[in-house]
Amino acid sequence: MLLLATATAQAQQQPEKLETQKLTEGLYLITGPGGNIALMVGSGGVLLVDDQIAPMTPQLKKAIAAVTSKPVRFVFNTHWHGDHTGGNAVFGGEGAVIVAHDNVRKRLSTEQLIAMFNKRVPPSPEPALPVITFADSIAFHLNGDDIEIAHLDPAHTDGDSLVWFKKANVLHMGDTYTSMGYPFIDTSSGGSVDGFIKAADRALAIAQPTTKIIPGHGPVTDRDKLRAYRDMVIIIRDRIKKLAAAGKTLDEVQAAKPTAEYDASWGTAFIRGPQLVETIYKEVAKKR
Ligand SMILES: [Zn+2]
Repeated sequence: MLLLATATAQAQQQPEKLETQKLTEGLYLITGPGGNIALMVGSGGVLLVDDQIAPMTPQLKKAIAAVTSKPVRFVFNTHWHGDHTGGNAVFGGEGAVIVAHDNVRKRLSTEQLIAMFNKRVPPSPEPALPVITFADSIAFHLNGDDIEIAHLDPAHTDGDSLVWFKKANVLHMGDTYTSMGYPFIDTSSGGSVDGFIKAADRALAIAQPTTKIIPGHGPVTDRDKLRAYRDMVIIIRDRIKKLAAAGKTLDEVQAAKPTAEYDASWGTAFIRGPQLVETIYKEVAKKR
């Protein structure tokens, strides 16, 4: 997500560390200052789902080398944000095939503004761009697993994908799920609160009690935690909808604190309660 500015600044002061955790045979989670990475290794080659912020690329290569001596064959991007695509230029330049939704390539190819953080992002160089793109769904058949990938309705952005490692029983949700904070709905990249809820529904329709769920940021969780998160987003959205329908202004809705009981647990990471209220208010007010 876009703690990016701070994360990058921190990375420059004192290089942050990446940590690797084995999820199941051949499938690893790599965490650090940027988005969570799934690393799959096996006889068919190495697949990365997301590749951190750019300054972490040398360390990411070391983390991969600690697990496998093979080069990265495929990179899949869950969405275009730089904390999930920062390693693209290097891996793409070294021959990895980058795969993502059509809108990921579109947004990486042109200058973007992330309005929430007033951050301009220049177009990415050619090697960083996905070379295979898709509209609705795509699958990898690799290392004995079937990895089914579905494009989601606009949620965090308009290029979000849900990645389902079927045999491994692991779901990577990109930033349609943050397990340690409120949703970041990047409306300047086409995001939508309704899409967030639908994304959780899609994941919940697949997930079993034993499924490991990798969020874009925060610790690995499970179906019950995701369900509770979705329910919280629904409650907050519906409160704001009701107030907006009653003709309340944004200031009045923020003053009513529709996120109050959740702020201590969820409002201390990227997105604070009042920011979430503003984003949702603008969306529901537009739809009225
Ligand atoms: Zn993001």
